[in-house]
This record gives sequence, C-alpha cells and structure tokens, in this order.
Amino acid sequence: MTLNSYVLLEATIVISVLGVISYRMRLLDGWGSLSAVLVGYSTYLGIGRVGMVALVTFFLVSSVFTKYKASYKRQVLREEPNDHMRSWRNVWGNGAIPFSLGVMSIADPGNVDLYTSVYLGAISAAFSDTMSTEVGLLYRGRVRYIIGFREVYAGAPGGVTPYGFLGAIFSGCVLFIATSFFASNAKILPYTLVIILVSGLVGTTMDSVAGQLWQRTYRCACCNEFVESSVHCGVVAVPLKGYRLVNTHVVNLICTGSGAVVAFIVWGLL
Ligand SMILES: [Zn+2]
Repeated sequence: MTLNSYVLLEATIVISVLGVISYRMRLLDGWGSLSAVLVGYSTYLGIGRVGMVALVTFFLVSSVFTKYKASYKRQVLREEPNDHMRSWRNVWGNGAIPFSLGVMSIADPGNVDLYTSVYLGAISAAFSDTMSTEVGLLYRGRVRYIIGFREVYAGAPGGVTPYGFLGAIFSGCVLFIATSFFASNAKILPYTLVIILVSGLVGTTMDSVAGQLWQRTYRCACCNEFVESSVHCGVVAVPLKGYRLVNTHVVNLICTGSGAVVAFIVWGLL
C-alpha cells in the first residue's frame, strides 16, 4: 500500500471507529487507547489492510473472550476489581514489536512482504497466547507447568491446560481466515498459513516457558494467595520467585518477539 492521503483518511476512519468501540466496551483506559492508536497507524500505514485486519481480529476476538466469564476468571487469578481495564502496559507488551515492524516497513517499503509476514507472526503469537490464557482459565481440571509437568495452582505463569492448547489452535485458524481475505499479494498466502500456525504455537510455548522460569510471582501478605501483582489487598506482596523486572508484560514481549523471529526464519526457509 502506498502512502497517500486516501490511505491516511481510511486509517483515521477505521482507527476512530475502533477507538469508540473500545471506549464504549471499556476495553482500554485513556493511555491504553492512545497507545493502541499509535500501533493502529503504524500497522495501517506500514503493513496495510492485511495487518490492520490481523490486529483488529486479535484485539476484538480476544477482548470478547476476556469479557466472557470475567468475574470467574478474576477469581481464579485473584485479581482485584481495578485490574481488569487494559492499560498502556498491556498494549505495549503485545504491541511494541508489531508497532516497530510497521515503522520499519514505512521506512523500507520495498520489503513490505517480509515485514508483513513477520508482523503476522508477532500478532499470531500475541493472539494465541491471549486465547490460550482466556480459554485455559475455564479449565476445571489439573493445571501443570509446561516444563516438568508438575501440578501447579490455576492461573500460575507457566501453567498449561488442554483448553489452553485448543484456544491457541482456534486463534491461528481465525487469524488465517480473517487475513486471507485481505492479503493484497496472493503469493504470500501459503506462507502466511504456516507462519501464523507455527509462530502462534512457538510464541505461546515461549510465553509459558518464560512465565515459569523468569516471571516474578508473589504471595499476598494479607490474604495469603498467590498473585501476579506486587501489591494486593492494599499491601506490598512478598516475592516468591522470578526476576523483579519480569512481569506479565515483559513475558508478552518475549512471546511476540519469538513469534516474529519464528516468522522471519520460516520466511527465509520457504
Ligand atoms: Zn491479598
């Protein structure tokens, strides 16, 4: 897609409509919305319609699943009521790499097919990971660590379930169907199917591995529950394991980064 005033107008209309939807559905807070607008413009102007369709599919489908049985899932995760609105941290955890790829493609338009493939890999990883979490939290059976398969509490970073795996596969199928209608270059379609599936599965797996090995988890000093946030029940929580700087957003960055790297490798091989 070439950069002209028509594309800019189209981007502005689509991004504005999405902004209103996410505001009305209370999907993002103010800084989260502003961040999403930046990711949206970079996607539209750098990757084009196919990128925007991938981004919107990821955002809307995963938001619907996040809202589904939200209070039950909040209970499983022991999240507090003010934790549910997505902030700029959520947006950049999943959106930093797609944003950068859009900017790189604007600067280097000759390689748009390469950037598009890598972009789809990153989005697929983010989408698979979000869906495996949202669907996996509904699983009532035993949750196990991805490494060693030791049983762990529900909602633990690194915990995996059969539902989560199905969620990841589902997201790959949805993303491929949605993007296939908008791929301006039909030549890249077979690549995108492979890239979306492989990047999604590798990205989700890396998210669980990083979650188990490096993400910091806490135990609340007040209610004694395992939690992901450093403050719970209004008091500072006690660190259990992991690195101080590795929170769920850093793990999402690792997830999308590995999805992008896998897509780059697959692009080179095919
Ligand atoms: Zn607590």
